[in-house]
Amino acid sequence: MVLDGRPRLNLASFVTTRMEPEAEALMQDAATKNAIDMDEYPQTTIMHQRCVNMIGRLFHAPLEPEQEATGTGAIGSSEAIMLAVLAMKWAWKAHRAKKGLPATNPNIVFGSNVQVCWHKACVYFEIEGREGKVSADKLVLTPERAEPLIDENTIGVCCLLGSTFNGEYEDIKGIHDMVVAKNEANDWMVRIHVDAASGGFVAPFLEPDLLWDFRLPNVKSINVSGHKFGLVYAGIGWLLFREKADLHPDLVFHVNYLGGDQASFTLNFSKGAGTIVGQYYQLLRLGKVGYTQIMTNAMSNAQFLRQKLVATGKVDIRDKGNIPLVAWSLKDSSKYTVFDIQDKLRDKNWIVPAYTCPPGAEELAILRVVVKQDFSRDLAETLVDDIVTAMDWLEHHPSQHAAVQGEINEKREAKHAKHTTKLKDVANRIKWAMHVVPSTSLPEDSEHGAAPLLSKHHLFSMKTDPKHRSTGEKTFGVC
Ligand SMILES: *Cc1c(COP(=O)(O)O)cnc(C)c1O
Repeated sequence: MVLDGRPRLNLASFVTTRMEPEAEALMQDAATKNAIDMDEYPQTTIMHQRCVNMIGRLFHAPLEPEQEATGTGAIGSSEAIMLAVLAMKWAWKAHRAKKGLPATNPNIVFGSNVQVCWHKACVYFEIEGREGKVSADKLVLTPERAEPLIDENTIGVCCLLGSTFNGEYEDIKGIHDMVVAKNEANDWMVRIHVDAASGGFVAPFLEPDLLWDFRLPNVKSINVSGHKFGLVYAGIGWLLFREKADLHPDLVFHVNYLGGDQASFTLNFSKGAGTIVGQYYQLLRLGKVGYTQIMTNAMSNAQFLRQKLVATGKVDIRDKGNIPLVAWSLKDSSKYTVFDIQDKLRDKNWIVPAYTCPPGAEELAILRVVVKQDFSRDLAETLVDDIVTAMDWLEHHPSQHAAVQGEINEKREAKHAKHTTKLKDVANRIKWAMHVVPSTSLPEDSEHGAAPLLSKHHLFSMKTDPKHRSTGEKTFGVC
């Protein structure tokens, strides 16, 4: 574990690396509770619903004063998005059925800049993903890019409040209004989902007048990562619906085998309660004022870093200053590339990712720093110094691979190979140090001579009864 990177210096990740000791203590207390056992842990269930209510109102869900919001906690935005995609698909299916039309070829529209979970959702749930290509000078989906991709089989359009690549907000109102016009002209019901994984806990505090949420009537669902700017450790995301009617009731499952009726809309069943308690703590402890102060501070540290980088005269800023994030490319990559800078910074323990941009802008390679709550001004100053030192050094020790842009990918592959060798080296060293067999299988015997935990005999002795094998042509498995 000591060979891992240091979370606080991991500027690649959006995920929270600091919480107050009081929050940590409460999360530790809740670690023995399974959040899905709602009957056993009714107070945790109430905290979960209160989080949903608070976040739903933060996003302007149209609710009566005492009314509960519709939504659920999830492992992160990825699970929340999978669920949102299912809700869109079911709503579209119902609409098609009502019109007596087939519902066999669903598609979903998003920019090529979406996070990988959208591609996963398309593959896992067999939905065609229609990607609007971005460009190097505009790294996000626009109404013009989305429009030609939409048709009667489109279950929804995903807009990003904070692109993973450069933190940029998409023109959600523009895309929304375009989709509403198309729906009206064609009697379609293409919905808007907003992936606000990062911006959902930034925009409401820093740009309260920006119209991106349920104030736009066709925004039917929104996800946000509690563990990003929601300021909770990894393992919590939220999915909110505009109204109860926007979630097909058949997607909500009721079980009674833990006692009482428990309704859930999740992919997973069991989940630790700690992150829910952590989120509830943060919402109550910080309130709107606290989140606003933290986000304002992070934005000002990001701006400090941005200005220092601009002052080198060697970079182009690629973020739009929407969230606390700085993304930049090099004006001149003939002597060294962003990948060389990434490597040099790694020597100083900084983790600053360099990557090429999504389809339509593949030729653009950028570096990105996510400015989290615990990234202090001191750290920002040291980072800038280290970046400048790295660039000066690289200026005089030109990278062999940097000459042409086309070679960036080659270099990247080489770097991966190097990385894999390095990892293997480390693994070998650990193996040697611990006298254990390769970590690909459970050891037969523990160091203390305990009995084998599982034998091959146990694993393979359960033969399938042949009579269970023939269950018809369409069966692809038996559980
Ligand atoms: C981080 C991110 C995700 C995935 O979120 P997790 O909470 O890590 O599962 C999805 N979309 C966007 C835009 C993101 O930034």
